Amino acid sequence: MTEAMHLILIVEDDEAIQSILRMLFEAHGFRVVIAATAAMGLHDARLHKPDMVLIDLGLPDRDGIDVISAIRSWSPMPIIVLSARTAETQRLMAFESGADDYVMKPFSSPELLARVRAVSRRHVRGDLPNAMLRLGDVSIDLAARVAHRQDGSEVRLTPLEHRILETLARHADRIVTHTALLKEVWGPDRDDSRSLRVFIGNLRRKLEVDPSRPKHILTELGLGYRLVVDPTT
Ligand code: CA
Repeated sequence: MTEAMHLILIVEDDEAIQSILRMLFEAHGFRVVIAATAAMGLHDARLHKPDMVLIDLGLPDRDGIDVISAIRSWSPMPIIVLSARTAETQRLMAFESGADDYVMKPFSSPELLARVRAVSRRHVRGDLPNAMLRLGDVSIDLAARVAHRQDGSEVRLTPLEHRILETLARHADRIVTHTALLKEVWGPDRDDSRSLRVFIGNLRRKLEVDPSRPKHILTELGLGYRLVVDPTT
């Protein structure tokens, strides 16, 4: 699907922000539907089956979180929260209810567009990791569990490091919370975020050009990690 065909549903009650968002997305070839309440948002999500939902949390009739959970009960459509709520608990709740990403207000238009594109790319690609993953100079074959630099030299990753990378890759461009990562990698009984940090540190040392300023394995403060991959073609 080309971007020109993308329909984006914006659930937002602030009229000034509505028109800014409409102008922004229409200028970039999206079709836009705007809903000013939670009830209208749910109605329009069912009616229009948009390619993406951009939703405010503070809505006049119900909380945006409720809308996200309701949509998630019947559709995997990508949902990005656009909210002035900065509290970590609010962000966590949004992710746990099924949001794909969270952009804070006030937002920058280029950043918002980039996040929308990243989420829709990930959605088109599906949740399964590409067999091949490229992080800068390093190519990783997730299925075969081998990694090489462009000069052909092997990057040795432990099975646990591969598992962490695989989990992050399955949710590429999205935040994977500490809890979700721990559960997927170690199972439900382990709650050891300290060792997670150690493994992430090791992965960065092996995969990042400058491990102290990572470009691929990003820390989302207080929340978790986000893997940014390069196109493989
Ligand atoms: Ca609002």
